[in-house]
Amino acid sequence: MSASHEPAGVPALNLKAQYQTIRDEIEPVVMRVLESQMFVLGSEVSGLEAEVAAYCGVEHGVGCASGSDALLLPLMALDIGPGDEVITTPYTFFATGGAIWRTGAKPVFVDIEPDTFNIDPHAIEAAVTDRTRAIIPVHLYGQTADMDPIREVAAKHKLAVIEDAAQAIGAAYHGDRTGTLGDVAAFSFYPSKNLGGFGDGGMMTTADPALSRRLARLRVHGMEPRYHHHEVGFNSRLDALQAAVLRVKLRHLDAWTALRREAADRYRSLFASHGLEETVAIPHERPGHFHVYNQFVIRVPAVLRDPLREHLAARKIGTDVYYPIPLHLQVCFTALGHRQGDFPHAEAAARETLALPMYPELTDAEQRFVVGSIRQFLAGYASPSMSTDRAA
Ligand SMILES: *Cc1c(COP(=O)(O)O)cnc(C)c1O
Repeated sequence: MSASHEPAGVPALNLKAQYQTIRDEIEPVVMRVLESQMFVLGSEVSGLEAEVAAYCGVEHGVGCASGSDALLLPLMALDIGPGDEVITTPYTFFATGGAIWRTGAKPVFVDIEPDTFNIDPHAIEAAVTDRTRAIIPVHLYGQTADMDPIREVAAKHKLAVIEDAAQAIGAAYHGDRTGTLGDVAAFSFYPSKNLGGFGDGGMMTTADPALSRRLARLRVHGMEPRYHHHEVGFNSRLDALQAAVLRVKLRHLDAWTALRREAADRYRSLFASHGLEETVAIPHERPGHFHVYNQFVIRVPAVLRDPLREHLAARKIGTDVYYPIPLHLQVCFTALGHRQGDFPHAEAAARETLALPMYPELTDAEQRFVVGSIRQFLAGYASPSMSTDRAA
C-alpha cells in the first residue's frame, strides 16, 4: 500500500476507540449510580458478581478492589501464611508473586514453557515440598495454562489451585472458561484488561460457597454482621460506578474477543506473507486452548528486540515489554536467593518478547503498517540467531 495511506501511528492500546462505541450505553448507567448516591458495593456490585459468575460458568463471584487483591484474598481465605510455600511462574506481572509474599508465605518459582510462556506443568512436582499449599498458574497474555497436569499434581499433593486469570476473562481450556479451572480464580478489571473498568477493580470466582462467604467477609475487614470482626481482613471493596460500567461492557466482551482473535489471525497471515517467520516467532495457540489475546506477543532475537522497539516507536507504533525482569530477579525478592540462570526460559522470554498493538478496534491498515514496519527494520539485519527457545 502507498505511504500516503499509512496511518499516522498505531497505539499499543486504544481505549478511546472503544469508548466511542459504547458511550451511549455507559452514560445512563453512570447517571443511575450518581442519582442513587450508592457508591460502594450494593446492587450494582452484586449484579456484576452474578453476571461474571454466570459468564464463567461458576456459582459465586466476589468483587474486590483490584486484581492484586483478588489474588491476596484467596490466599488469606485458604489460611496460607508464614512457613507455607506457594508455587507460581516467575514470568508474570509482579502482583502474582507479591500476593504470596504479603501473606508471609514463600513464592516458589517454576520455569515456563517456551512456546506459551505459561508455567511448565511437568516441572511443578519437583518443586513440591511438605510446606507447599497452593499453585498459582497464570493464564498469560490470554491463553490458559495447561490445567490438566496442574490439577493432577495439585490433587496428588492436596494443593489448592488459584487461577491468575487477570489477563484471561473468556479464555477457555477444553471448553471450560477461566474462573472454573481451579478452586478459586482472580480477575482484574484494570483498564487495559479485556474487560476493563474506568479505574481499578477485581473479582474472585469459586464454586465453593464457604470460600465465597469468607472472601466476601475478608474484603470488609473480616466483618459480619456490621462491627463484628471474626478475623482481620482489609478494605477491598468494589465501587458501584465500576460495576455499573463493567456490566455494560460485559455484554460486549464476546464480540470484542472475536475481534481480538480476528486481529491475531490477520497478524499471523501478514507475518507469513512477508516471510518473517524465520526471525519472528508469533504466538502459539495450543489446540484446546481458546486464546483471548489480551496481548499479541512476538519473540525476536534478544539483540534485535530493543532496536526494533525504537524503530517502531519512531513510526509512532506503540509496543511494550511484558516483562523485562522475571520475578526471581527482582530486588525485593533477593532474600529468596535466586540468580541469573535459575529459570532460563523465563529469562530468555524477558529478553526476546515484544507486545504489538492489540485491541478489538485494530484495523487491517494499522496491522499492515505494523508488520510492514517490522519487515523494513529486519531487512537491515542479517538474521541473527534466536535462543533455542525460538524453535520450541
Ligand atoms: C493485571 C494483572 C494483575 C493485577 O491486577 P490489578 O487489577 O492491576 O491489581 C495480576 N496478575 C496479572 C497476570 C495481571 O496481568
